Amino acid sequence: MIRILCAYCETETADLADEETVRTCAACGREFSVAAQEAYARGQAYYTAGLEIEREAQARKKKASSEMTDMIRYYSRAYSGLRVALKDDLPGMYRADALMMLAEITRRFLKHEMVSPLESKYWTQRITYCTTEEEYEHLQQRLAARSGNFLQRGHWRLRYGQLKRALPKLKEEIAKIEQEIAFVE
Ligand SMILES: [Zn+2]
Repeated sequence: MIRILCAYCETETADLADEETVRTCAACGREFSVAAQEAYARGQAYYTAGLEIEREAQARKKKASSEMTDMIRYYSRAYSGLRVALKDDLPGMYRADALMMLAEITRRFLKHEMVSPLESKYWTQRITYCTTEEEYEHLQQRLAARSGNFLQRGHWRLRYGQLKRALPKLKEEIAKIEQEIAFVE
């Protein structure tokens, strides 16, 4: 049985009904998607299982082919689970984490020619978007709070302007790749 945690405060949810898709957390009162959290938790569990096999094989410096089949199977399940999770609006920390795992998986799939370079690029671009957006919001807060000295503020404003221009471009690039790879759902 997989544990479903609140997307905001990580309190474990109790007595989930089968058809329940959205839940209001009893601890923090915020609403989150049970389906996305479940897909995320499953994806993460499969990812960890794949990673464990990989690490053990690396430590022994020997790869049994049956092990490698298991590893690929786990990573494939993680890949689909995490993609499902990302379709719903995962909160920041989970989104960043899911994207990182997806990028790691595609990097491995690329070696086995299981995904195209474009698909691999897609996930790294989404991570870039995620971190760029984070930095942008962070700078926005700093500038609004009027913190820092004259020199720092000048530097922040410059960087803020760069990020503001970069974000729509990145978004456009991601949408273009998305169309090209046309994910089959
Ligand atoms: Zn909560």
